[in-house]
Amino acid sequence: MKIVMLGAPGAGKGTQAEMIAEKYGIPHISTGDIFRANIKNGTELGKKAKSYMDAGNLVPDELTVDLVIDRVAQPDCEKGYILDGFPRTIPQAEVFTEQLAKNNEKIDFAIDVEVPDENIIGRMGGRRACLNCGATYHIQYIPPKKEGICDVCGSELVLRNDDKPETVKNRLNVYHEATQPLIDFYKAQGALREVDGTQDMKDVFAAIVKILED
Ligand code: ADP
Ligand code: ADP
Ligand code: ZN
Repeated sequence: MKIVMLGAPGAGKGTQAEMIAEKYGIPHISTGDIFRANIKNGTELGKKAKSYMDAGNLVPDELTVDLVIDRVAQPDCEKGYILDGFPRTIPQAEVFTEQLAKNNEKIDFAIDVEVPDENIIGRMGGRRACLNCGATYHIQYIPPKKEGICDVCGSELVLRNDDKPETVKNRLNVYHEATQPLIDFYKAQGALREVDGTQDMKDVFAAIVKILED
């Protein structure tokens, strides 16, 4: 089962992807997490990606696509995977689709988690991220058991640089311009499914499971 998560920044893609990955035993591949890990470890890729990310702009396609193609070629992806935050541009989607087609493969489901822009700003301001394991919380809606500490790995939680309101606005613009067209791209492939992302996290999850098992 190969799944792509679509939706605005803060729509809940990562939150849902993590739960789906666990339920179906497939890897959750978040390009944002991969970039953040590279920044934390001071790699060349991290150095290149950082300024784009901090400004809320996209990292160039040429730094992104090969990374994902290599990742899905790993043995743990044999039974499928869930991509979160990739593809984010039409060129990324085109190259990736062609690559899959070489092996007679395709994306089975592109799940668009729909949340209006008005709700996004509040979600981002309250988001707290674990830069060690990638887990995400919300101070109000999905709090960790112990304030400021990751339930999963015990690391300290942070407000991401790019979750400040000024940057979130730019990210939403970038989303509408560069990423939203992917909805029609996957609709044309017959893979698009839509869920109402304003519901409670558990209800969004139930809706996605229903789609995957229908
Ligand atoms: P969110 O889902 O909250 O927008 P992500 O963690 O998916 O956040 O991405 C954070 C940042 O990482 C993006 O704003 C962008 O700069 C960069 N990024 C992640 N994935 C991609 C991608 N596929 N193409 C280009 N940039 C990306
Ligand atoms: P994305 O990966 O799409 O950027 P996240 O999964 O990181 O989004 O979610 C953004 C923020 O909203 C996080 O703080 C997360 O805890 C919170 N969140 C996720 N799903 C819901 C939901 N259904 N209702 C309320 N808040 C949510
Ligand atoms: Zn953690």
